[in-house]
Amino acid sequence: MLLAQPTKSQAALKLGRVLIVEDEELIRETLAFALGGEGYEVVTAGDGRTALEMTYEQLSAAELTPPFDLIILDLMLPYINGLDLCRLLRRQGSNVPILILSARGTETDRVVGLEVGADDYLTKPFGMRELIARCRALQRRYRSPETTIPEDQILKFADITLFLQECRVVVRGTEVNFSPKEFRILELFMRHPRRVWSRDQLLERVWGNDFMGDSKTVDVHIRWLREKVEVDPSHPQILQTVRGFGYRLG
Ligand code: CA
Repeated sequence: MLLAQPTKSQAALKLGRVLIVEDEELIRETLAFALGGEGYEVVTAGDGRTALEMTYEQLSAAELTPPFDLIILDLMLPYINGLDLCRLLRRQGSNVPILILSARGTETDRVVGLEVGADDYLTKPFGMRELIARCRALQRRYRSPETTIPEDQILKFADITLFLQECRVVVRGTEVNFSPKEFRILELFMRHPRRVWSRDQLLERVWGNDFMGDSKTVDVHIRWLREKVEVDPSHPQILQTVRGFGYRLG
């Protein structure tokens, strides 16, 4: 019996986008060829800085979807090494599955890799079939919390409940009045728990591109928000400052 084969584009749609970060060209091209043949949409980076820029650009552009569905990450890389890159991605709030592929194979190497936020660790030299099987397993386990939040319902975080359609916010059981800007900022944070937003990103999303003020406006609104949602606004536990980056929920 003949079964219909999915076209390559249908398969890529299902498997998603994979970012390969590897400075050795031969390995990078071999991986790209193999994963492309499996049906992944493949993007490559030859060093850590390029990879960070790619993920960061896509993170700021993405609405509700993560920038990549999977990252395969070498450790010894120019400019930013794999461990630092992994750490930075997690600090930005990215929950994309990360598989480290490294020549460093001691138990300590593996533990450190997993501790900075990688989901799996494979040592070079590796078998391509095993790598592909691990990629698939990672994706099976991966469920993005961002994509599971329904557009038209209620958002909850800690003791805060946001009723989207009614534009109401309840904090620790009490209804609190929010200005439209404050509501919009809080909604953005609650739709993307743990994601770090820079001041410029918040300005763009909440105030729009034609806003002429500066990023201090964001700080002022965050202060007002903290007065409404935090138990102790001078020691925020909900709207946290991520030094050098911006703000994060939780
Ligand atoms: Ca390398």
